[in-house]
Amino acid sequence: MGNSDLIMRVHAAARQEQFLEVVSAEEARARFERHIDLSPLSAETVVLADAHTRVLAQDVVAEVDAPPFDRSNVDGFAVRAADTWGASDASPKMLTLNNEVVACGHAPVIALASGTCTAIATGGVIPRGADAVLMIEQTELIEDGEPRIELRRAANPGQFISYAGSDIARGETLLRHGTRVGAREIGMLAACGLDRVEVVSRPKVAVLSTGDELIEPGAPLKPAGVYDSNGAIIAAAVAEAGGEPLMFGAYPDDASILEKAVRKALDASDMVVLSGGTSKGAGDLSHRIVLQLGKPGILVHGVALKPGKPLCLAVVGGKPIAVLPGFPTSAIFTFHAFVAPVIRARAGLPPEAADTIHARVPLRVASELGRKEFVLVSLVEGEDGMIAFPTGKGSGAVTSFSQADGFFAIDALASALDAESQVEVTLIGNVAQAPDVVIMGSHDIALDIVVGGLADRGYSARTLAVGSLGGVAAANRGECDIAPVHLIDPASGQYNKHLVVPGLSLVPGWRRMQGVLFRLGDVRFEGRSAQEALKIILADSSALMVNRNAGAGTRVLIDKLLDGARPTGYANQPKSHNAVAAAIAQGRADWGLAIAPVAKLYGLGFLPVSPEHYDFLVVDKRRERPAVRAFLAALQDEKTRERIRALGMEPSA
Ligand code: AMP
Ligand code: MG
Repeated sequence: MGNSDLIMRVHAAARQEQFLEVVSAEEARARFERHIDLSPLSAETVVLADAHTRVLAQDVVAEVDAPPFDRSNVDGFAVRAADTWGASDASPKMLTLNNEVVACGHAPVIALASGTCTAIATGGVIPRGADAVLMIEQTELIEDGEPRIELRRAANPGQFISYAGSDIARGETLLRHGTRVGAREIGMLAACGLDRVEVVSRPKVAVLSTGDELIEPGAPLKPAGVYDSNGAIIAAAVAEAGGEPLMFGAYPDDASILEKAVRKALDASDMVVLSGGTSKGAGDLSHRIVLQLGKPGILVHGVALKPGKPLCLAVVGGKPIAVLPGFPTSAIFTFHAFVAPVIRARAGLPPEAADTIHARVPLRVASELGRKEFVLVSLVEGEDGMIAFPTGKGSGAVTSFSQADGFFAIDALASALDAESQVEVTLIGNVAQAPDVVIMGSHDIALDIVVGGLADRGYSARTLAVGSLGGVAAANRGECDIAPVHLIDPASGQYNKHLVVPGLSLVPGWRRMQGVLFRLGDVRFEGRSAQEALKIILADSSALMVNRNAGAGTRVLIDKLLDGARPTGYANQPKSHNAVAAAIAQGRADWGLAIAPVAKLYGLGFLPVSPEHYDFLVVDKRRERPAVRAFLAALQDEKTRERIRALGMEPSA
């Protein structure tokens, strides 16, 4: 590639083309909806077995009564209540048995005359002339002579009878249009004898992804590749919104291939949702393709919100096309805000009612001026109400949306939200009820085993990975029950003991061996001790290290080992053991420090240096809670300890 060629490509990659017009979310929605039909699609008839999750197109009016006749609720005897009046232990009454037993499914033949009764089963039709039922347990059958029963209790008229139509009355509106059919609705339809029902046709929504890097789930990951998660999550969200997803798959950033695919998708569907390639860079083709498809074309490209700025909304031939930003959280967020309401409307569903709650945000959250910013949060119950923790993984993360309980907004004109602010959180998905135990701090794969043991004991846990320091702060504020930590005290060289203050106690967890990671076969490390290897690499300027972030326990150890040396790569400071291992495995660095289990996961060599203590700060006030006790019991359980050992860690005594 020549110099000028390179400069051109750099300009293109830097996305120098600007958005022509960035509009507010409200304006974007208004423009989009002005050009589309938001009425429900036509109705179709489906058999009951296919009605599940469909949306009723019409009110369903019951054509029969349920029960269809006056029905006995118990096994016993149909009687005239007046014949029983005055019956007591002192003066029992006798009724002659009619020569009939009314079983289910058999209409009674004999009318009941005064002074008689008829044996009847639960569900049997009340015979003509009867107006109450006596429970068999409250009567005595007299077998000698003419068959009779003796009773010692009076019955009220109507006793143990369900009258015709008392459950469902003929002519009653049973179900309303716009109702989504679940098991309960299917039961009601069947009880009325309906074997088919009118439902709204499902809007067909074509789902496409674009990006040269995308790989279909199931295929092996190649270098620089990323799994297409948007396709799957958007398809599922389409179904949840009442649409029928048509999965078109992922396409490379190739104008002609992509254009062909989008045209095909448009033909096959009522609506097209494409994700990726929506920014205004050279590799970003989506909006250029949409531009060529027809009228009225692009209505919005650029919305003043975060995540989701590059959203592009268009209509072609009456069909909506949405091009969502590629980052998964941005994609699903803009889908819910702009696309799902359109699908719901066309599917005949009412707008989704947003549930909100008030919560306190304990930390300051910075925000960009000029864009309304939505912050995804996890919720935990504090002493004085709900607390919302920003999940903080950013819009590139898949998990920030999927693991969030809700979100709150920071106004476009604010540059930050102050710590301790009260916010209104819009809940997403099904927020599970409050967990039995809240664990906040550093995450470790062995922690999942203890939490699994807790689940086996019937308790739910919420774990928030906020790092050791975050865990210490949360424990001190009483926002969690348990904080997993691994912080070395530089003064004493001891782990975690210095974190204990009144109100908190320390429960030992396990030790994780830390050491030098390297690619197998690298002779600078293979077969040596960590100290020997260090001597060699510190003299070798081609040996590239990967460091850790300041504040990490491992970083303290690294600095101690390096003793003032600054090898190449020292400035590269990712925040996790996994990031260190990935950099070495993929050749972006040659060595770094991490824990042994991670070296194993990435197939790397490992030279042990020193064990790190991963322990638990427990909030004393909460220690006697059953779930906290169960956690501590799970920690002691020999089965749990065995599994922790299998991961390469040593449970503390
Ligand atoms: P784009 O909007 O094409 O500039 O993509 C922005 C980011 O989102 C890049 O990191 C992409 O790799 C990522 N991305 C785009 N499409 C998808 C997808 N379908 N699944 C997962 N990540 C994606
Ligand atoms: Mg892309």
